Amino acid sequence: LSDKLGAIFDGLQKRGALKEADVTAALREVRVALLEADVALPVVKDLMGRVKARAVGAEVLRSVTPGQQVIKIVHDELKETLGSDGQGLNIHRAPPVPILMVGLQGSGKTTTSAKIAKRLTERDKQKVLMASLDTRRPAAMEQLKTLGEQNQIATLPIVEGQTAADIAKRALQAAKLQGFDVVILDTAGRMAIDEDLMAEVEQVRRIADPAETLLVADSLTGQDAVTTAKTFDERVGITGVVLTRMDGDGRGGAALSMRAVTGKPIKLVGVGEKADALEDFHPERIAGRILGMGDIVSLVEKAQETFEQEKAERLARKMQKGRFDLDDLSTQLQQMRKMGGMKSLMGMMPGMGKLQKQMDEAGFDDRMIRRQEAIISSMTPQERRAPDLMNASRKRRVAAGCGLTVQEVNRLLKMHKQMSGMMKRMGKASKRGGGMPNMAA
Ligand code: GDP
Ligand code: MG
Repeated sequence: LSDKLGAIFDGLQKRGALKEADVTAALREVRVALLEADVALPVVKDLMGRVKARAVGAEVLRSVTPGQQVIKIVHDELKETLGSDGQGLNIHRAPPVPILMVGLQGSGKTTTSAKIAKRLTERDKQKVLMASLDTRRPAAMEQLKTLGEQNQIATLPIVEGQTAADIAKRALQAAKLQGFDVVILDTAGRMAIDEDLMAEVEQVRRIADPAETLLVADSLTGQDAVTTAKTFDERVGITGVVLTRMDGDGRGGAALSMRAVTGKPIKLVGVGEKADALEDFHPERIAGRILGMGDIVSLVEKAQETFEQEKAERLARKMQKGRFDLDDLSTQLQQMRKMGGMKSLMGMMPGMGKLQKQMDEAGFDDRMIRRQEAIISSMTPQERRAPDLMNASRKRRVAAGCGLTVQEVNRLLKMHKQMSGMMKRMGKASKRGGGMPNMAA
């Protein structure tokens, strides 16, 4: 049986690397998917370039196809581009803290103003005032007032004939006098970007000096997303994006476009017309939705887990037999980085606590691990299998190859010697019936 297992693990080691042709073929499909999800063309192109650089040469896991592996890489890249989870609103400032809502007409500014006000009131116990700066459509002011009444949120009394700038000043003044924590300024929008709109919003921003300037954007926006986000960011300077209508059947490509173009976080997501239909942004979810290939991604993730597990078990077996070469050490180092330490492996081996403690004391951090990996990868396969080959000139060559010193190479070799010595002793102890389970049998 152990021969059979050995064959399986040899197969594991010989898994292939992604070839350029595989990557190109898979990316053709991905490109279509992204365009269908309304990701803007320049953003798609940029992403394709990054994925290609990352994918060609990357290893393919057993039990998945090259195409599937590429899709997983695209998914990870999307997730990274979309940014981190749950970036809350920044209201840490002396009250009243102004929040400015900007965006095109119909994007959901007024609705989102009420949603944010409700959340801040109920969840964060803030006293919130809302003010409509939409002077062009009287109905817009009424709309905000009604939303305020429905949700028990104060709105600034409507005064006819004031400019947006006047209203902004009045709102800040009232908020200060009446002890509000937050004042939400809901601006007017246009059907498309125009100079009037930008000038007005810019002026309000100067007056209010908001802690947050949120670009409210319809998630169904297609190729325009880039222009909208770019213009608002350049002219007004946004601090974040709120994507509305994520309850629709759009795939949310605008999220990616806006994030890629402005680099500003997507802070919140609107998922309905009601005042509580507001959610935190989760890159993972949106990445899955944009790509629309969730099944493949979870398949590859599962394969990845199995693979890591098998790798750890195989290593544990080798360690038991006292065979532990530099390739194994390299695998181990990679895992330490990925799994946050040797703990998972040590958990499988009795009596390893002491070594673990020594490593902690030696300051085994991420940078050190990377340096050690670099040293091993500068060695030839023979050297890795038989570290005794490492004489002075080989050490010099390796050190030069990875840009480190001979002392560092020596330190790594010494560590390996100690580790493999310890494994050998443990292996013998287990053969004498030291209580070690024989996993290969
Ligand atoms: P504004 O012109 O930017 O102020 O946009 P409004 O807030 O007036 O919203 C325009 C329309 O979109 C309204 O009918 C809202 O109910 C609707 N709306 C806003 N946000 C969402 C959302 O997240 N989901 C859905 N389904 N509708 C929304
Ligand atoms: Mg409005």
